[in-house]
Amino acid sequence: MAAQSPLVVAHLRGLAELATLEPADVAAWQAARLDRFRRRWLSAVPHYRRSPEYLRGELSELPVLTKETVRQAADSFTHPFVPARKVTTGGTGGRPLDLRISHPSFFTEWAHIAHVWARAGVRLTDPKITFRGGSLGEGFAGRPILFQRTYNQLLVSPFHLSDRTFDELALMMRDFRPVAIWGYPSAITPFARWVARTGPHAGLRGVRGVLLASEGAFDWQLRLFEEVFEAPVIRWYGQSEKVVFAGECAQHRSVYHVMPTYGIAEVVEGRIIGTGLTNAAMPLVRYDTEDAAAPLEPTVNRCACGSPFPALRDIRGRWDQSLVYGVDDEPISTAALNFHDNAFARFDRIQFRQEHRGKVELRVTATRRPAPHDLELARQLLQDRVGDRLAVSVSVVETADLVTQRGKALVVDQRYRPTETTANTPTRRGKPSLSTSGMGRRPGFRQSTER
Ligand SMILES: [Zn+2]
Repeated sequence: MAAQSPLVVAHLRGLAELATLEPADVAAWQAARLDRFRRRWLSAVPHYRRSPEYLRGELSELPVLTKETVRQAADSFTHPFVPARKVTTGGTGGRPLDLRISHPSFFTEWAHIAHVWARAGVRLTDPKITFRGGSLGEGFAGRPILFQRTYNQLLVSPFHLSDRTFDELALMMRDFRPVAIWGYPSAITPFARWVARTGPHAGLRGVRGVLLASEGAFDWQLRLFEEVFEAPVIRWYGQSEKVVFAGECAQHRSVYHVMPTYGIAEVVEGRIIGTGLTNAAMPLVRYDTEDAAAPLEPTVNRCACGSPFPALRDIRGRWDQSLVYGVDDEPISTAALNFHDNAFARFDRIQFRQEHRGKVELRVTATRRPAPHDLELARQLLQDRVGDRLAVSVSVVETADLVTQRGKALVVDQRYRPTETTANTPTRRGKPSLSTSGMGRRPGFRQSTER
């Protein structure tokens, strides 16, 4: 497994050493690293080969690369000789984007995650309860909880978050003794509420951290997790394109320290622009992540937490929570409904619309009208993922039906609102602090997320 790989261990050691340097020395180290990366890899990549500026010009003077440019010409950003895994992710307005990720880049990713978790004393190999959809599939075989030895985790399906599942989980965690809870905030929330209602649970006494990635969390969720699990929330920022990786500061909430080994972050016109240093299979130079942040300030002194790394503040973006609701009004993150399948590559844009409890419509646009069996295949893939929690239908719509006046497509067009009673569950200590109004579920609430 990645956690024991010498590559991960070496990276982790390198990161720890860098973190002891002064900010100016970190910047100098990174400049040399960038220089080497450009000379070594960019000259063989068609898009960069054309102009010598990419090999030696000032980084800040190179053009900004958009998602759409990469989407339309993925091959011209691909290194011809570096072995890679193909990954499909959401592009602008729900259009799929094909990426190539080198094998060392995957390992490096784990090292950076390990570095962030270490703040709470959590190692990659420690026992965890994980609420994520990324690994969903046949492995679950219709069961809501799966033990994965490779990751030493009890993986809980984000589509089966019911009291019955949690009762089963409670039995398993008595012996398993997890030291971390990891996953989507929207999926951990029902569990946290259940623990608040039924706890304390001896099996959770060893929890040292709540690890959150992939989507934003509301402040009330962070408070809920820290109170219920009596452990700090650890968050980090990254993206499938692997250009910038940042871990949340131990002293300042919503401040993220950028890892110099992973990539270079700039903020241009309010957007995070990243130059990746780990993925030689598809190097992205000055890539527009479409995530927003406050302007970068020069790092002169170390942060109060001790880090010499630059900081991104107020990151906002594509990871905003976009939820649909299952048959029991349980929130399901659309981040869990990943579209890493060729069946979805036929569509130009995709969007979920929910109008009724437990029912969701996948709306797609396509330049050439998809055949009925293509639509049925997509529907079946989604239905398999969500099991009996949601009834899925698929329909083809016009592009104009999907995009806003500003030209962006909503990932979730949420027209349904769960009832107040299901949304409002008391916490363990019976504190009234988590009122319904604090959960963003006011009357007339309509949730939508733009990509
Ligand atoms: Zn800090």
